Amino acid sequence: MLSTKAMSLTPSPTMAIDSKAKEMKSQGIDVIGFGAGEPDFDTPVHIREAAIKAINEGHTRYTPASGTQELKEAICAKFKADNGLEYNPAQIVVSNGAKHSLFNALAAVLNRGDEVIIPVPYWVSHPELVKLNDGIPVTVETSDKNCLKLSVDDLEKHRTSKTKALILNSPTNPTGQVYSEEELKAIAAFCSKHNIFIIADEIYEKLVYDDSRHISTASFGGRIKELSIVVNGVSKSYAMTGWRIGYTASSPEIARVMGAVQSHAASNPNSIAQKAALAALEGDQECIRVMHLAFDQRRKYMYERVKAIPCLRALEPKGTFYLFVNITETISKTFQGQRINDSDDFARCLLENRNVALVPGTGFGSANYVRLSFATSQENIIEGLNRIEAFIADLE
Ligand SMILES: *Cc1c(COP(=O)(O)O)cnc(C)c1O
Repeated sequence: MLSTKAMSLTPSPTMAIDSKAKEMKSQGIDVIGFGAGEPDFDTPVHIREAAIKAINEGHTRYTPASGTQELKEAICAKFKADNGLEYNPAQIVVSNGAKHSLFNALAAVLNRGDEVIIPVPYWVSHPELVKLNDGIPVTVETSDKNCLKLSVDDLEKHRTSKTKALILNSPTNPTGQVYSEEELKAIAAFCSKHNIFIIADEIYEKLVYDDSRHISTASFGGRIKELSIVVNGVSKSYAMTGWRIGYTASSPEIARVMGAVQSHAASNPNSIAQKAALAALEGDQECIRVMHLAFDQRRKYMYERVKAIPCLRALEPKGTFYLFVNITETISKTFQGQRINDSDDFARCLLENRNVALVPGTGFGSANYVRLSFATSQENIIEGLNRIEAFIADLE
């Protein structure tokens, strides 16, 4: 018999539609994809060059398991400059991507049966990572009125004596929302009072728009800083998803435990990728501004277009590269005789009939929503939205 725990994991639900879209593409069908969960830009040249240099200079051996001293120092400098956070290198653990950092964080704090609060909609891996570490994910519905952001009332209703941690992802995948300072302060005060760890997934921090600001709960200081495990990485900010470098900042004790876990499970993250991440953090930040500008222009266009399509209600993205769209008004309608019962049907029907791939909300815990990524070219966005508009017009 195989492991009950491992078998209880849900295979990534965003994959089914994705593999169908890929299959259609390989048959020569012109599919427009809104499914991307990563920047469509190439890794900036100076970062690639740093990696090539690292190979040629022989940085090809094991490094300390939790990352090189120089990279940890650069990460500390980043936290200070960007987030107003003071950490020393002993509080940093560098991992194989932010997902791995999240895994380490949960491994460090959870005992069997501990509960972890996760706001709905959630990033697909958050509940599964909790299960992998013997915790119980407590998914908490958020309100439309609060733009699907978690409130202290929601927390209060679901807190038990077993609540050990909260996973808070702001800017949020899939909703594109950003928590305000006031909202974060209230959540932080609640967590301090009840001794709940905040695992702060801040991977989209550089992608905030208009007057939204990214704030790290750890920056409130005192007890909440001790309870916070800040998770970040270079994947989304620097278009480096394939390089696999993420990192955490935490109390020295948590960092030591996470470092021990990682040293046995994975040893160090790739030595070349650590050199590349160092170049990303220490190099010219202009590349971030260029990508941000492109995302922001697409975001504005996409939001205005979707807002004007009947039956669709889009949440205005304040961060990330996702638009989260409520499709409730299409439920129970039919497309050429096929009835739409939920976002899975919506996505399948749209892909099969109009060759547009998007991600159904069911995988994020929200059956009445779909997620559209704007990490794709403006031409694709225009064409894809034309097709969606025509699809909606054909619903009966
Ligand atoms: C992409 C993503 C991550 C993982 O980033 P990696 O560094 O590629 O592991 C973590 N959290 C959220 C919400 C993400 O969207």
